[in-house]
Amino acid sequence: MSEKRVYLFHEGNAQMRSLLGGKGANLAEMTRAGLPVPPGFTITTAACNDYYARGKQLSEGLLDEIREALAELETQTGKKLGDPFNPLLVSVRSGAVYSMPGMMDTILNLGLNDETVEGLAQLTGNPRFAYDCYRRFIQMFGDVVLGIDHYRFERIIENVKESRGVKHDPELSADDWKQVIASFQKLVQEQTGAAFPQDPHEQLRRAVIAVFDSWNNQRAVIYRKLHKIPDDLGTAVNVQMMVFGNMGDDSGTGVAFTRNPSTGEKTLYGEFLINAQGEDVVAGIRTPQPIAQLAEQMPEIYKQFQEISQRLEHHYRDMQDIEFTVERGKLFILQTRAGKRTAHAAVKIAVDMVQEGIIDKQTALLRVDPDQLNQILHRRVDPDAQLEVVAKGLPASPGAASGQVVFDADTAEKWANEGHRVILVRPETTPEDIHGIIAAEGVLTSRGGMTSHAAVVARGMGKPCICGCEELKIDLQQKELHIGDTVIRQGDRLSIDGGTGKVLLGEVPLIDPELSGEFQTLLTWADEVRKLKVRANADNPHDAAKAREFGAEGIGLCRTEHMFMEADRVPIVQEMILAETLEERQAALDKLLPMQREDFVGIFRAMDGLPVTIRLLDPPLHEFLPDVEELLVEITRLRMTPDADKRELLKKENLLRKVRALHEFNPMLGHRGCRLGIIHPEIYAMQVRAIFEAVSLVKKEGVDVQPEIMIPLVGHVNELHEMRKLVEEVAEQVQQETGVSISYTIGTMIEVPRAALTADQIAEEADFFSFGTNDLTQTTFGYSRDDAEGKFLHQYVDQKILPDNPFITLDTEGVGKLVSMGVQLGRQTKPDLKTGICGEHGGEKRSIQFCHDTGLNYVSCSPFRVPLARLAAAQAALSAERS
Ligand code: ADP
Ligand code: MG
Ligand code: MG
Repeated sequence: MSEKRVYLFHEGNAQMRSLLGGKGANLAEMTRAGLPVPPGFTITTAACNDYYARGKQLSEGLLDEIREALAELETQTGKKLGDPFNPLLVSVRSGAVYSMPGMMDTILNLGLNDETVEGLAQLTGNPRFAYDCYRRFIQMFGDVVLGIDHYRFERIIENVKESRGVKHDPELSADDWKQVIASFQKLVQEQTGAAFPQDPHEQLRRAVIAVFDSWNNQRAVIYRKLHKIPDDLGTAVNVQMMVFGNMGDDSGTGVAFTRNPSTGEKTLYGEFLINAQGEDVVAGIRTPQPIAQLAEQMPEIYKQFQEISQRLEHHYRDMQDIEFTVERGKLFILQTRAGKRTAHAAVKIAVDMVQEGIIDKQTALLRVDPDQLNQILHRRVDPDAQLEVVAKGLPASPGAASGQVVFDADTAEKWANEGHRVILVRPETTPEDIHGIIAAEGVLTSRGGMTSHAAVVARGMGKPCICGCEELKIDLQQKELHIGDTVIRQGDRLSIDGGTGKVLLGEVPLIDPELSGEFQTLLTWADEVRKLKVRANADNPHDAAKAREFGAEGIGLCRTEHMFMEADRVPIVQEMILAETLEERQAALDKLLPMQREDFVGIFRAMDGLPVTIRLLDPPLHEFLPDVEELLVEITRLRMTPDADKRELLKKENLLRKVRALHEFNPMLGHRGCRLGIIHPEIYAMQVRAIFEAVSLVKKEGVDVQPEIMIPLVGHVNELHEMRKLVEEVAEQVQQETGVSISYTIGTMIEVPRAALTADQIAEEADFFSFGTNDLTQTTFGYSRDDAEGKFLHQYVDQKILPDNPFITLDTEGVGKLVSMGVQLGRQTKPDLKTGICGEHGGEKRSIQFCHDTGLNYVSCSPFRVPLARLAAAQAALSAERS
């Protein structure tokens, strides 16, 4: 015997989701539980897949199976499909495994024809109702099965309403609807060349096929792509006895959530319409009433619905989204599913449900999607606001900001000091703009990628930022911004949504982020189960304190170059770089030393009792120098000015020569990282001295400091050997000078393939490894990130050449293999070698799962991602336990 393809509702259950679809499985489950569900049956997803496998032919015997189930349904209901005196009417509903609300098709009131409509009118004594149902059926069948545009039907109704001088559907009489039906049938004849099908069995067959077909309609395909739902699951079809919410004022239909899906508050949340059928609530034809009013209008029904919704929530142990209909004072449940919710609501509901004893802590932890938490942790656009989007760029740093447009950092600072909120708009930002970034609410640039200066700095500060918004034409001279025909001047109001990359005209209302009490609770539970430690990437005391507030257990990456980029230091850093002699360079370094020391003092105080990993200078030196083109412009101007200062000109020309000398063809692979430390040991020596002097200072205050010195970009063990010696020497000197003994560790970033491949050798010289997966991804793929993201990576992902952007989701097969090899080889040499990851992947849930599975000790991410990482680490531990 071939496999069963049609199940009566009482034959199924909630576990049969993949066969019956979510809707069918839940209708079956509710039927079993004795809830008032109109009877029916489900045609399986297997039948749908078979339909496609046979080139859109129904499986053999499927129609017989449907007829058998129908006969059973007729017995159950005491009605018969097509019976002119006692007609059975059914809905034919789509229902996929993963709910795709409204994406596929459903047909109501099937079984009506010119004869049965009269039977229904007599039986109910309500002709107006009967004709209303029939016109609805012709309309839906015409749209879904016959492919006639629905607006053509609506136009007919509008015309009739106009000729009767009425505004709303319920004001039309039985005769009016009869006239509508006649016009509908004429329309069908015109559009299809055939009369509206009168045989109910033929109607059913065609409706089933249409629902199968709707699996592949355009909106369903797009929805699946967006939510990564496989294309080959197929939809089930539910055939169900109709119940009628449109039988008068003792009838109605509605939708309700068992808890508020926006706030998570524990109250019934929903809407209903008196004297209406299913579609009317969502279609927006009439404005529905809030569910609370049902308590006044139908108190008994309200009470019963409340009880049932509680029962369903307890049964499924999750917030439910429920469809119901009231037919002449009797309540029916037509659908239940887990309700979609905001991050706020997700957290509150999960925690509340644990406290109510409905779910355990582990389930609660798995209920909240870490990706969604971004919504909570940044200021965001009020979801109810009306928006005017004028451009789109790269969503470089999430959160939203509104303010007045300014085009340079000085103005940003000045205006901010005067109490204005400003958005800094630049072609790109340089280290010199940092004070402007600090002063601004958000940053918008027309050039640069996700690792551009603006993006990195903004993310570090938790400040919204959009980069590479190429539609912007910025005129710095005129202080104007052109986007298409729109002109925005300095002082005009603009908003940016860094989470989506949307640039918005004017001011938009924002909502503040908050770590609610429930969120704190959930994170405490996460801390109980996770194995991975969570650290933060932080470069200054403020960020360090923020990270700690969010639960960071140390700093995994403190980038010292950000300290070099502060506006008042750039000139000294430039002196250091441009020095002709070692003496000159040392003089500049001596000026930087106290400044760096101060930075570390602040960070160490903020991280009292927790480890701090400090990476020595990493980027190529020319990043701190002015731009060649800007210099050229300046020099040309000076040359053309007759009475220009000759010394100034000479200075600039000298500078240009140096900048050109430092030029690199490929800076990412050039003179940077420990290569700087080896060629200019005095730079690293100054940094190490600043660190250890700071340690001695705060130790004397009683602060518990745990410094970890990290050498970047090591590819050969000899590099680390050299640098280790240097660090130890300086540390020894400082300890002698201050008389304070200091315990510290020395480790390295693993960010080029050779380091991972020779990790056993490198571990001889390292106390810890920190996988710098941003650079490791660049060097493994041979991509420069900014070029890749600007030029081809989008297409690569669209064409499925790569499954994901590897700079966002760790490429576990390639880059990940190097990471696990690095861990394994390193621990061969040093079993207790500490390992962590400090790329941006440290704050991404799938990458965190990988870090857990690979046995790393910690992940490190930006302060604002720490809560997300705590949750994701807990989920990783739980899923490893369960599998
Ligand atoms: P969707 O998945 O798009 O919500 P549904 O299959 O749930 O589509 O149906 C659309 C509307 O029709 C819903 O409001 C539903 O409650 C209503 N509906 C479906 N079946 C019946 C039925 N047997 N009786 C009354 N209303 C129904
Ligand atoms: Mg529905
Ligand atoms: Mg790096």
